[in-house]
Amino acid sequence: MSQKCGYIAIVGRPNVGKSTLLNHLVGQKLNITSRKPQTTRHAILGIHTQDNCQMIFVDTPGLHRNQPRAINRYMNRVARSAVSDADLVLFVVDRLKWNEEDELVLSQVQKVDCPVYILVNKMDRLSDPGLALPHIQELSAKLPAAEIFPVSALRGTGLKELQQSMVESLPAGEHLFDQDQVTDKSERFIASEIVREKILRQLGHEVPYASTVEIESFKKEGNCIHIHALILVEREGQKRILIGDRGERLKSIGSEAREDLEKLLATKVMLRLWVKIKDNWSDDERALQSLGYRES
Ligand code: GDP
Ligand code: MG
Repeated sequence: MSQKCGYIAIVGRPNVGKSTLLNHLVGQKLNITSRKPQTTRHAILGIHTQDNCQMIFVDTPGLHRNQPRAINRYMNRVARSAVSDADLVLFVVDRLKWNEEDELVLSQVQKVDCPVYILVNKMDRLSDPGLALPHIQELSAKLPAAEIFPVSALRGTGLKELQQSMVESLPAGEHLFDQDQVTDKSERFIASEIVREKILRQLGHEVPYASTVEIESFKKEGNCIHIHALILVEREGQKRILIGDRGERLKSIGSEAREDLEKLLATKVMLRLWVKIKDNWSDDERALQSLGYRES
């Protein structure tokens, strides 16, 4: 049997259930072992290889930013390229709710050439699935070519059918990744990508892509993984934005990243973030101290 392989972008506004869905689709376990350079510009969130088909789930920060004002500039720059090499887009929406954030995601999804699936999620919350019908009809009018799947990412309902269709939609191609075990290196890699993703998502253009995330330590202790990540920026102003008012921004980036990591690694995670201006460490230590981020 010939091999199939493709990139799948999971898009949708915050809180519709993307991480929960990803978690189910990759089987609770992160399968990344290596990344061949130039295969994608995006954060790879997980890989699922099933029989002869390899599904590579990628993130597209441009498609689910949560700050509407910044979104236009940002999306024009990023979103096009972000989905242009996806082979399939999973557009996750809530069973009933539709708002302007969904509308923004929709406007980007409408530009995509590849197949689009609309996943009407959280169906388990409906006493009667029929209640979602008007919403489903509206969705289908907005994206006539899309296939629609009512699912519950949380319960796993409808995901078998979804996966079968995904296999059918993906192009023929050799697998890009091994199916080996998870290595410590790959987990570190994904940890840095996730922190980076959260920075992009929360701050968008305010902090340049040049900012890098280094995983300084990654230790398993008991049933918990302790991760220390260093965010390197170029200027004082960028550092201030990243840390935010009384450290709120950094905390919020950290807690979102931790939640995703816990889902992906299927374990408890303690995540500490530091922000450092390149070549300016002493200055930084002071700032961290005042935030209470310093280790005793
Ligand atoms: P994301 O922001 O799109 O990644 O959304 P998450 O995956 O973090 O989910 C947001 C919230 O919705 C979490 O509390 C999930 O447990 C919940 N959730 C996700 N999918 C479902 C679902 O199918 N049914 C129900 N009842 N809750 C869900
Ligand atoms: Mg998420």
